[in-house]
Amino acid sequence: MMEYLLYSTTMTASEKSILHELLSLAEGSIDGFRVAAQRPPFVDDPERPENPPEPGAGFSDLAELGEAVRACVSCPLAEGRLNAVPGEGPADGRRAPVMVIGEGPGADEDATGRPFVGRAGQLLDKMLSAIGLSRAENCYIANIVKCRPPENREPAPEEAAACRRFLEAQIALVRPRAILALGRTAAQNLLGTSEGINRLRGSWRDYRGIPVLPTYHPSALLRDEALKRPAWEDLKEFRARLDELLDGQ
Ligand code: SF4
Repeated sequence: MMEYLLYSTTMTASEKSILHELLSLAEGSIDGFRVAAQRPPFVDDPERPENPPEPGAGFSDLAELGEAVRACVSCPLAEGRLNAVPGEGPADGRRAPVMVIGEGPGADEDATGRPFVGRAGQLLDKMLSAIGLSRAENCYIANIVKCRPPENREPAPEEAAACRRFLEAQIALVRPRAILALGRTAAQNLLGTSEGINRLRGSWRDYRGIPVLPTYHPSALLRDEALKRPAWEDLKEFRARLDELLDGQ
């Protein structure tokens, strides 16, 4: 059982794997030294069913995640981007009580590397400000995909799936008390549903224990004035629930 003594409980599962490979190589060279055929299980191994990987695993903070997003070429959207758009919030790295999730960067966001800076973004800032939220103070803004889909088309399912690890890590790092999901694509991808936005909007859902309120995307409000009233109702509902959640801390 010599190999158990050589592993440390502070090592990561992948470090233990590497050490096990090295020990296996040494087996033939050291008289009487035997290594188990399989890498021994450890209680903190993420592969063990009782230890699922942390969603934010692999990123120590949002800055590190941002660097990974900017270097990412995991899906075809990397080819057409000028800038990847990881996300933005209060002094990147600080926890925010609210996370706002949209669909993906448009032309202005692609040009600047910042989320929601075009017309829709300016409207979003006004909407958030009306309920006491801002990206500078208390709100982290991100998208389902971090690179601009060509001609602002909807992200393909495989593109959203490739980018999912970044979104999950952002949510795990920001640890918001509530999430506002903007538009059908954001809500459907986040919640894993095929329900339409008219059914989703204004009804509280759940993402891993975090309350999620879907509402219309600001772009839709710019196209259709009639959606502004229900969107405002959603925002007031969001603020009321957020206040309850923050009061209960
Ligand atoms: Fe990577 Fe996401 Fe950009 Fe695709 S959209 S290249 S998965 S960061």
